[in-house]
Amino acid sequence: MKFSFVRVYPMLLVMVFSFMHISGQELPTAEKSYAKAIKKLSANTQIQNAYAVIDEIDNQTTADLIRLTEIEAPPFMETKRAIAFRAMLEDTGMDKTWIDEVGNVIGLKIGTNRNRVVVLDAHLDTVFPEGTDVSVKKKGDTLFAPGIGDDTRGLAMLLAIAKAMKKAELKASADIWFVATVGEEGLGDLRGVKHFFRKGAPKIDSWIAIDGGSAGRVNNAGLGSTRYKAVFKGKGGHSWGAFGLANPHHALGYAITHFTKEAKKYTDQGPKTSFNIGRIGGGTSVNSIPFESWMEVDMRSVDATRLLKIDSIFKSSMHAAVAEYNATGIKDKIVLELIKIGDRPSGELSETTPLVQRAIAATTFFGETPRLTRGSTNGNIPIALGIPAITIGRGGKGGGAHSLGEWWMNTDGTKAIKLALLITMAEAGLGN
Ligand SMILES: [Zn+2]
Repeated sequence: MKFSFVRVYPMLLVMVFSFMHISGQELPTAEKSYAKAIKKLSANTQIQNAYAVIDEIDNQTTADLIRLTEIEAPPFMETKRAIAFRAMLEDTGMDKTWIDEVGNVIGLKIGTNRNRVVVLDAHLDTVFPEGTDVSVKKKGDTLFAPGIGDDTRGLAMLLAIAKAMKKAELKASADIWFVATVGEEGLGDLRGVKHFFRKGAPKIDSWIAIDGGSAGRVNNAGLGSTRYKAVFKGKGGHSWGAFGLANPHHALGYAITHFTKEAKKYTDQGPKTSFNIGRIGGGTSVNSIPFESWMEVDMRSVDATRLLKIDSIFKSSMHAAVAEYNATGIKDKIVLELIKIGDRPSGELSETTPLVQRAIAATTFFGETPRLTRGSTNGNIPIALGIPAITIGRGGKGGGAHSLGEWWMNTDGTKAIKLALLITMAEAGLGN
């Protein structure tokens, strides 16, 4: 197909405008005081030395990345990788390392004042099931392997930062916890980060997650989601011999109709809220009335109140549909069971939050364009509690996250490591 400039140009304009519409905000800028403080901090001799170490050890950082990527870490099976990561973290000269009750790895770097706790986090788990080929394949400069970018690169960055701090004798004022979390993905439901914010847990003042995306990402808002498995149960029987008996699949059909109708009405207006029936299943054979029918449902909203509302629409639709089906004159009845399989809160941190300002200032200082984003990350939990938290990019170039063709390329990858170090040090304060 041939494009003339005249025809392409308006198309580009449309693309630019629609992008602006999607992002819906001007480029974030840092207040002068933060920009100044970041510039000054970055010029500090120990920080400069730490940057130099990050460059020096870059081949080692890539070797760490490959080594960790090749230790599989399917959902709920992160232990092998956790043990390896803990040993590697221990070698960087932490004051203490441990694995907590749920499987998170923690490395403590004691600050000179110990007045606050700043967490630097990446997640251990991948979305890939046990037995997936996780060997890293090199094609030119590109590394291919499931999980290499999301989020094994984050783990390798944590190690690089820890090594650089040690070698450059860079001390922070606050305690820094180098954390590798379990259960960030999917049905893991953020169980690793949730554990850090359980009732009675030691206080954490700031949370900086490295997870996916190029340098410049400053995720300051949580996209909340709620997920259910709805199970419809009946006696089951022969399709001919037991005909007339309550059929769970038929009830599921009623439920889908009820829910999608009501949910669509609600989500057609107002701040973005979504619903999705992602999986359905059950039944044993074409000539059997199933004893069970189930579906998995995901609902999301930028707004916490709307998330509660779509959740209640879902539940009332399920109950109404089963009642309606049970009243159709069938034999016996369908029993409904709703199992919550996911719960991630929404929330948003103001752009003026010091941590967000520091991240914007540091990103700009490194010549990258800061982007405030909303996502479903470990940050959701602290953000929903009003605790400063951001998720920043793993840098380099990459793509195909959550697919077997995932790739990452070390294009200026050290920049993201230095940026993460600078943000962390700005938040933790220079030690004395
Ligand atoms: Zn991730």
